[in-house]
Parts: sequence; structure tokens; C-alpha cells
Amino acid sequence: MRVLVVEDEESLASALERGLQNLGYTVDVAYDGEEALEQTGKAHYDVICLDLNLPRVDGLEVCRRLRAELFSGGVIMLTARSGIRERVEGLDHGADDYLVKPFAFSELAARIRAVTRREAGPLYPVVSARGLELNPNRNSVKRNELSIELTPKEFELLYYLAKHEGRAIPQEELIQHVWDDRMNPFTQTVKVHMNNLRRKLTNSLGEPMITTVRGKGYVL
Ligand code: CA
Repeated sequence: MRVLVVEDEESLASALERGLQNLGYTVDVAYDGEEALEQTGKAHYDVICLDLNLPRVDGLEVCRRLRAELFSGGVIMLTARSGIRERVEGLDHGADDYLVKPFAFSELAARIRAVTRREAGPLYPVVSARGLELNPNRNSVKRNELSIELTPKEFELLYYLAKHEGRAIPQEELIQHVWDDRMNPFTQTVKVHMNNLRRKLTNSLGEPMITTVRGKGYVL
């Protein structure tokens, strides 16, 4: 799950970024409305946490434009204003929910879960591949009814590979879909997570289910 935090208050932005990363989300941050629109043009976000008072383009306008471009993810407005008029305006502009600042992080996390559950139907189907059943709404992997324990990152990697079963996926494509923008594409991170994942997923002969195709990528 990829989340965009749009917040010009840097300390709040980085607190939200860290908190959401700890919950296993892939997180990007934009510090003004224009940057937010740029980011959403580049990557798909499942949820946007959108501050209302923003430099350059304000939150309401960002939300209106996103919906005009048929953005289908969830939008949670973060607002210092508690007036009914602003809330109604936010919802009218296409926000799914809103939180009045200051809010508890746990409340934001709960709202994100609620919004993504609503979105979960068509966007995150259960995927079956090579005898594995992956449920992204519960981050669970099962084989013959037995659960396989994966970290959130490992799950996201496997889910991506399973959706493209049989196709070799280059590392750059995995970085684009499973990590945030700031990851250096030359880092060893993908390899490390992939090695852990391969150790956990072996067939009846003890061979890894994920194989590497030289020069092409990883394939399930
Ligand atoms: Ca602000």
C-alpha cells in the first residue's frame, strides 16, 4: 500500500511518514499542493493524507483536481479548521474522510484502514499463484491452508510477483511499485528482501519458488 502525505509542516510530515512506514506502508511526502499533483501524476497512491492549508495550491483544489482526473484512491483531509462548512466543502470536493488537527496518530491509522477497506474490493483482489493464496487485505499468505509468515515488505514483493505470475520482473519495476521514490535504485535492499523471501518459499523439493532470470529479473 502506497500512501502520499501532503503536509507543509515539516515536523508533522516526517512524524506521519515514520509512523506510517512503521505500519508497513510505502510513504512519499509532498510539502505543497503543486508537488502533490506532480507526485500523483507519477505514481499510484492508495491513500492520500491531504492537509487543507497548503502553499501554492490548497488542499481543496488538489482534491478537486485529483477527482477530476479520476483518481480512485482514498483521500483523507487533515484540517486545522473544525467548522462544519469546511468539512462539508472537503467532502464535496471528493475527500473520503477528514481529521481535525491535532489528531492522534492511531486515529489516522484507523481512518486509513477504513478507507482502504472500502477501496479493497476491486483494487486488491485475493491472488492465487503456484499453489499460494495471497490476501492483501489481511497481508496473509497460505499454502494448503498453512500460513507462511512474511514481513509487510516481503508480502508486497510476493503480491506483485504473484499478480504477474510467470513473468520475469526487473528490479527497477519492483522498486517503482513496492518502494518509495527516495530509494536508491542501486541499493542492495531488494536483493536482501528477495533472498529472505526465497528462503521462506520453497517447493516440496526444497527449491526456491522464486527464481532469477539473468538480466531479466525475478519470476514466480
Ligand atoms: Ca498546512
